[in-house]
Amino acid sequence: MTRHLDTIVELQDTLTRLAAARARLSGIPDWMQELHGEHAAERAAIEALEAAAEQSRLERREAEAAIADAQEKLQRYQQQINAVTTTREYGALLQEIDHVKAQIRTGEEQGLAALERQDEARRAAEEKRQAFRDLDERYARELTRWEAEKPAVAAEIGSLEARVAELRGRVPRPHLVLFERLLGRMGGAALAPVRLLETPGRGPQVWHCGACNYRVRPQAVVEIRNRGSLVQCESCKRILYLEEEPA
Ligand SMILES: [Zn+2]
Repeated sequence: MTRHLDTIVELQDTLTRLAAARARLSGIPDWMQELHGEHAAERAAIEALEAAAEQSRLERREAEAAIADAQEKLQRYQQQINAVTTTREYGALLQEIDHVKAQIRTGEEQGLAALERQDEARRAAEEKRQAFRDLDERYARELTRWEAEKPAVAAEIGSLEARVAELRGRVPRPHLVLFERLLGRMGGAALAPVRLLETPGRGPQVWHCGACNYRVRPQAVVEIRNRGSLVQCESCKRILYLEEEPA
């Protein structure tokens, strides 16, 4: 007769494998991680350069608008000069004219600097795009390969799900309720192995919980071993089990 503890141990193991398979299906497989990282970094670098080019373009446009504004003022002041009647007014107007001329010069300098930055960012982005092409093709090939592997992973998930349902059906309801409550509370790992503490010399055997290290009473170990009893760790409350001894 199968002991319930053994069924629960298998259920936990199957659930862990199921979670791993699901993560694999929705994520990037290990063999693709490196290329995926490189691809994402290069793409981000290109996007950053494109954003910098766009920013410079906007700055150039702002400088041009400021220039147009100043030129309009300059024209107005130059027209007013004919209507001036006093030297004081004349002097004040000349000062304004100098001021807007300085604004135009500044705008031109800023516009030119922005244009240079824009050109540089565009050139750098283009260079990177050229270099990216190879990487992108390699990435597309690996993606295709990964897509081809996905059905097998999906099938594995399907059979693991079926196994989980079967095992769940075999565990008595109160045990299952306890197990699933712990599963939720412990982030997917409701069980902990009982481990023998390495003791120097020939002292009495000391057991502890493999998850939290809390001591496990020898009597509990006997109950687990002989009867497959469900014993919880007194500290972390996980259900304790004995790992199979290596043959
Ligand atoms: Zn524990």
